Amino acid sequence: MGIRNAGTIGVAVAPHLDAVVISKKVSLSYQAGASAKEHEAIVKAAVRSAFDFWQEKASALRVRVGIMGCPGKELKILFKVDFVDSGADLIVRVDNTPKPSDPDDELRSYVMGGTDMTFYMQAEVGCTMMHEIGHALGLNDECLYGSESEAEPELTVRGHDMPDVTFTLPLLRDWTQEGDDGGKSYSFARPRIMGTYATRPFPATCITGAPMRQLRLLPMTGG
Ligand SMILES: [Zn+2]
Repeated sequence: MGIRNAGTIGVAVAPHLDAVVISKKVSLSYQAGASAKEHEAIVKAAVRSAFDFWQEKASALRVRVGIMGCPGKELKILFKVDFVDSGADLIVRVDNTPKPSDPDDELRSYVMGGTDMTFYMQAEVGCTMMHEIGHALGLNDECLYGSESEAEPELTVRGHDMPDVTFTLPLLRDWTQEGDDGGKSYSFARPRIMGTYATRPFPATCITGAPMRQLRLLPMTGG
């Protein structure tokens, strides 16, 4: 689980809102038969509701700030997404590749490095966007696929100015697969939004999401 995301996240203090505002600039491009005319509204709505989803998950958290000579403050976290034509922090490549006829051959939306997303319209849209935007905001996957061992793996996540959190990933019995050589491979996932991937059926509980505890807030520099 050594995947590292390196997205740009704008962080600003908005004193009148008692909040830090985490902003992302997103641009859309179209490939493999996708078009702005057909897909722009759907994808923008999915991106907006993904940000709303993570906003809701962060609603119980506060960022503690101390400024010399001033009393400390606890600030809410607000997310802001702007769609731009250039200079985006995150590019979403909207892709309309048809669904493969072989059910084992899935379309899997993904985000590379937190900054470059390929998003398949012919796969699940809403929960997938929440998951991928979770990555773009710095969250880890909470799953492990194709392990040779049945032992439940531990995952440690780090947060800024808070202790690391360690939990085990539960075994997904239904997803145990037997290879041609008789060897088995096991999969593990938390039944939450960061524990699922792409076209695997999202559990009904997917909207329970993950808390934003893992979110890494970059230290502010300058004024
Ligand atoms: Zn993922």
